Amino acid sequence: MRIDKLLANTGYGSRKEVKKLLKTGAVQINDTVVKDPQTHLDPETDQVTVHGEIVVYREFIYLMMNKPDGVISATEDDREETVIDLLEMEDQIYEPFPVGRLDKDTVGLLLLTNDGQLAHQLLSPKKHVPKTYYAKIAGLVTEKDIEAFKRGVTLDDGYITKPAELVILSTNEEENRSEIELTIMEGKFHQVKRMFEAVDKKVTFLMRIKMGPLSLDESLKPGEYRELDDEEVELLK
Ligand code: URA
Repeated sequence: MRIDKLLANTGYGSRKEVKKLLKTGAVQINDTVVKDPQTHLDPETDQVTVHGEIVVYREFIYLMMNKPDGVISATEDDREETVIDLLEMEDQIYEPFPVGRLDKDTVGLLLLTNDGQLAHQLLSPKKHVPKTYYAKIAGLVTEKDIEAFKRGVTLDDGYITKPAELVILSTNEEENRSEIELTIMEGKFHQVKRMFEAVDKKVTFLMRIKMGPLSLDESLKPGEYRELDDEEVELLK
């Protein structure tokens, strides 16, 4: 890896700023001052210091975001705001991407990482990583729906869903609405909304509250995010 890339990736500024920093002679690789931004090094074995301080290089970043309404789960878009736009620049340099998608109007737990292998594992249909959603529903959710979701319902394209666990939190007969939690083991396009359509009801609010072993950190306001700690990352693996 080039020294300018490593320094830019570890928060020492843009490539241009890093070039200036190198010129000042502040940067050393294994006790040798380097000024050429094109100098190559091995981040695993070479020790880099800036003003005598060791630069800790890490390859991966793992973030938990409370995705807000109105933002899309993509990395780039010409017109719409994306979840990546919500990240601080110093986190964007790792080039994280969202692990799976939440709809534009779905809120809640979204993981972002640049660890492609972990993302793949979490999304693989074979792994059956459970995802739990809290939803408000127009209509009265019943025991019959619980049974139907347990057996599997047929979506509009003919797909039969895998067994899912539906919990009724509350129903309001007067206002014809319900609150539920639903845990699914798969992630078809608009799956939760389409499952309720299959039983003639409509999701009016959808929030993901759990993904695998992780629950949404309630201290995160919509649009806020934090890094996962080492323990949380281990749990995901
Ligand atoms: N199911 C949906 O319908 N939408 C989401 O964003 C996630 C799950």
